[in-house]
Order: sequence, then C-alpha cells, then structure tokens
Amino acid sequence: MKISRKHIKSDFIHRIEEISGEKISACYQCGKCSAGCPMAQEMEVLPHQVIRYLHLGAKDKALKSKSIWLCASCHSCSSRCPQSFDLANMMEALRLITLRAGRLQLRPEDIDTELLEKAPQQAFVSAFRKYSN
Ligand code: SF4
Ligand code: SF4
Repeated sequence: MKISRKHIKSDFIHRIEEISGEKISACYQCGKCSAGCPMAQEMEVLPHQVIRYLHLGAKDKALKSKSIWLCASCHSCSSRCPQSFDLANMMEALRLITLRAGRLQLRPEDIDTELLEKAPQQAFVSAFRKYSN
C-alpha cells in the first residue's frame, strides 16, 4: 500500500475531517503522540499507526482497531504534536462513525481482569461514556 491523493482525498477521510475538525494529511508520522500515550502499551496499534492506516486507505483496519476504543481522550497526544494535530478528536470521530453504523467494538464483559486491575479508572469512565453516543 502507498500513500496516494486518492486515499487522502477520499470521502471517508473527508467524513473524519468533518467530524473531528482535524486535517489527516497534517500528520507526518513523527510518533511523539504514541510516545506520550498512557494507553499505548495496551494498544495493538499505536495512535500514530492508526493515522497511517488512514493515509494508506486502510479504512477497515482503522475502524476495527481496538486502539480507538482504548483511547482515554486524555489529549496528551494532542499537546505533544508538533503539527497541532488533535489525535484525540480523530479517535472520537472513528468511534462515532462505528457507533453510527450500529457496530460496537467493546462490551464490559470483554474487558479482561488483568486490564481491570492495571488501567486507570479514567480509562473505564471514558470507555463507558462512549456507549451513550
Ligand atoms: S505527534 Fe502529530 S505529527 Fe507526530 S505522529 Fe503524532 S499526530 Fe502525527
Ligand atoms: S487521547 Fe487517546 S491516543 Fe491520545 S494520548 Fe490520550 S489515550 Fe492516547
């Protein structure tokens, strides 16, 4: 897969940009967001890699990533970004698109006990708030 104008200008990218208010092409993959993300070690795909999926037109990989649900909307990534890209807003847009399509990615019973013991309480408050969208 390659980055192409077709992917960057796709209807799907426009929809994310419309919901989030962020320009997906602004990210140049420096990785500072992922380096400061408190949930990164629980994610199978790091935050900047979710953006990379979008650059490459891998829409389904981005939408099916559990990382978008593990994101705690803490905005640490956004505050670290040299491009002022608000990644937290983009994660929220991906969640909204999924919810509006009637697909849920996370149920309370899917959270394993080890994660329950390790993850900060705010992460769970954030996750359950997402169900009411
Ligand atoms: S910090 Fe900003 S520019 Fe760097 S990878 Fe993350 S979103 Fe992209
Ligand atoms: S807003 Fe989400 S992706 Fe960004 S640092 Fe916080 S948990 Fe990680």
